[in-house]
Amino acid sequence: MNSFKDLFETYNWDQTKKSIYAKTSDDVAHALSTKNRNLEDFKALVSPAAVPYLEQMAALSQQLTQKRFGKVVQLYVPLYLSNECKNICTYCGFSVDNKVKRKTLSPMEIMQEVSAIKEMGYDHVLLVTGEDNENVHVDYFKKVLELIRPHFAHISMEVQPLDREDYLQLTPYGLNTVLVYQETYHQEDYKKHHPKGKKSNFNYRLETPDRLGQAGIHKMGLGVLIGLEDWRTDCFFTAMHLQYLEKQYWQTKYSLSFPRLRPFSGGLTPKVEMSDRELVQLICAYRIFNEEVELSMSTRESENFRNNIIKLGITHISAGSKTNPGGYAVEPESLEQFEISDERSPEQLAQIIRAQGYEPVWKDWDNSLAQ
Ligand code: SF4
Repeated sequence: MNSFKDLFETYNWDQTKKSIYAKTSDDVAHALSTKNRNLEDFKALVSPAAVPYLEQMAALSQQLTQKRFGKVVQLYVPLYLSNECKNICTYCGFSVDNKVKRKTLSPMEIMQEVSAIKEMGYDHVLLVTGEDNENVHVDYFKKVLELIRPHFAHISMEVQPLDREDYLQLTPYGLNTVLVYQETYHQEDYKKHHPKGKKSNFNYRLETPDRLGQAGIHKMGLGVLIGLEDWRTDCFFTAMHLQYLEKQYWQTKYSLSFPRLRPFSGGLTPKVEMSDRELVQLICAYRIFNEEVELSMSTRESENFRNNIIKLGITHISAGSKTNPGGYAVEPESLEQFEISDERSPEQLAQIIRAQGYEPVWKDWDNSLAQ
């Protein structure tokens, strides 16, 4: 098998969806009691049949997370470097057809943002850009990594998908982790939401995690944008992608995110609404299916939801986030990619974490030990 695409093409969306919705209470009970869980068990855990088992799922998820990760939650923060983008994505404030002021931070501006982030206590930063290969390219990333590497213990990146050779060039500059979300595995709907630009190439995006694995990246993050399509089916394909990658690239570590579509300037209404209870079900299902994977939550979710989810399986959480380039110090009033739901400071969130008997950690220990 050359890439995940070969496996993916043997599956049919509608049949997969039907098989998830056909799962029964017995299937869920089996998925909760077995020691060797497979993708059929994952289907049962995300199915409507699992809803009455939510408390049992939450207890198991908490127990498995504490066994593997201890009572620790790692904090990270995004640093938006640029909102320039050549793509149309129907759900994003930075889409090229959205008339917003475009900005790419200069080295001096980046350092202003870095100072503000360091003052908040962070040692783990996530670099974010739109997708504009003319202005924000591999050479730009190299310069940024060189600039900020002395200030952070862990650097993650969420930018346009790159070639394997590009990732090979960036890792010596201190790149630890790359996040690349498929947005949706529903190929026709993917085309509707990405009608223009390089991102409209479904397969290039689908094969990005393979290129990352081949480049020997330390960690990669997967996920879909919840709200574009049936979340149960989309998250099944995410779980299948994760299982495939873990087998192919066993030295790489993995994380999963589950962003729900948020309002933005000129925004799209979600096709599918996911309730808070359903998001809890998904988080627990991911943990019960995979005890090793990191589960990451952003400030898209509300204060109340984030307070309650800490104990159930989350390992990484952001706080105090700004989703606009220059948002921390340079240009706080510029347009955000999406609206933040939880506006608390990192220290306020750290207090909530401590109050629940967990320890907030500001650097990625896993990476520190690996170096
Ligand atoms: S989601 Fe990314 S690629 Fe799409 S418009 Fe927004 S910044 Fe550009």
